[in-house]
Amino acid sequence: MKNLPIILLAILTGLIMACTPTRTKVPKGDINYELVKSQEEWKSLLSPQQFRVLRGHGTERAFSGAFWDHKNEGTYICAACNLPLFSSDTKFKSGTGWPSYYQPIDSASVGSTIDRSYGMTRIEVHCNRCGGHLGHVFRDGPRPTGLRYCINSVSLDFVPKGEEISLKY
Ligand code: FE
Repeated sequence: MKNLPIILLAILTGLIMACTPTRTKVPKGDINYELVKSQEEWKSLLSPQQFRVLRGHGTERAFSGAFWDHKNEGTYICAACNLPLFSSDTKFKSGTGWPSYYQPIDSASVGSTIDRSYGMTRIEVHCNRCGGHLGHVFRDGPRPTGLRYCINSVSLDFVPKGEEISLKY
């Protein structure tokens, strides 16, 4: 059994290879989304402010957006692709100057990533259909979830209760 070390090495290599993901790297933000468009396409479809926030992870100025003090009944949808994201039923007054919700309509519609920018560790949230950046989620929200989804108004559109919502693209 002179070849035993070689055989063992081959088995070990095989095991390591089997555990290594083979997925190739794709640009951040465009991974596994149902709706994929290039930055150039998004630039032509969104307003400059929408593009800066949704595709560039920007943040609108507090108390400057359309929805921080918006109280109508209805659905807040992704401004880029129209996916329903938040209901007015879960919107609450946070005092932050950004529209705030304690939960999404469907947890599968809002994805999250760890954001370590600006020396902070925060949970970034995005539309799970197009990858558009929405805002962040914090653990200081009201009951029943204790979560505060702090969202940029510019990442959202509003559809009044009773009106139909159709996805874009
Ligand atoms: Fe979207």
